[in-house]
Amino acid sequence: MEYVFPPLPVQSLPVAGDSRRFALRRIFCVGRNYADHIREMGFQPEREPPFFFTKPIDALVQDGETVAYPPLTENFHHEAELVIAIGKAGADIAVANALDHVFGYATGNDLTRRDLQFALRDRGRPWDWSKAFDRSAVVGTISPRPGQALPGATRVRLNVNGETRQDATLDTMIWNVAEIIAALSASVTILPGDLIFTGTPAGVGPLEEGDKCTVEIDGLAPITTLIGPRA
Ligand code: MN
Repeated sequence: MEYVFPPLPVQSLPVAGDSRRFALRRIFCVGRNYADHIREMGFQPEREPPFFFTKPIDALVQDGETVAYPPLTENFHHEAELVIAIGKAGADIAVANALDHVFGYATGNDLTRRDLQFALRDRGRPWDWSKAFDRSAVVGTISPRPGQALPGATRVRLNVNGETRQDATLDTMIWNVAEIIAALSASVTILPGDLIFTGTPAGVGPLEEGDKCTVEIDGLAPITTLIGPRA
């Protein structure tokens, strides 16, 4: 087969303790999954069904890379998140069976153009350009945990230049990992290689040129991102 342009190279992540890599298929993200973050965004938390948005897989940024301060924003934000790596296909999955589809977990940073998000939200427009821009999905090494949940006391922490900005435990998520997988699979067939960002706790805030941003989740590999000059 010949193509008029080269096909997209396979995007992949390292897997802890395995020389093989995790080839990416799609990146899904959950919005508003921690009550204290919903409040800081100006809403009252309710247990409404989780909602999803996506990022292109070539938005992937690996640990240790520099991300240029992106265009069309003056309020570029970090969002520390647990990322689920899917290892088994399924549709309309029951919550009780949902963890069977987990391959493992990784640390993530859902980079966001917050000013654009608010402007789009206020006009009732799609979030895409606030979320699905180039180099907006930082994900670390995947730790295999097939079929498992992480302990509720697992802490998610983010610091910028050593100053803690976000610090929460996974048991404060409104929708847990199994419920997120069940809800997503009611809309689309999930497939091996899919990633799901699970939402961010309170404390989101701006990144500036020259910042060093690190996300840590107990038991998983941390990720560090350097913010470079505007492209
Ligand atoms: Mn997010």
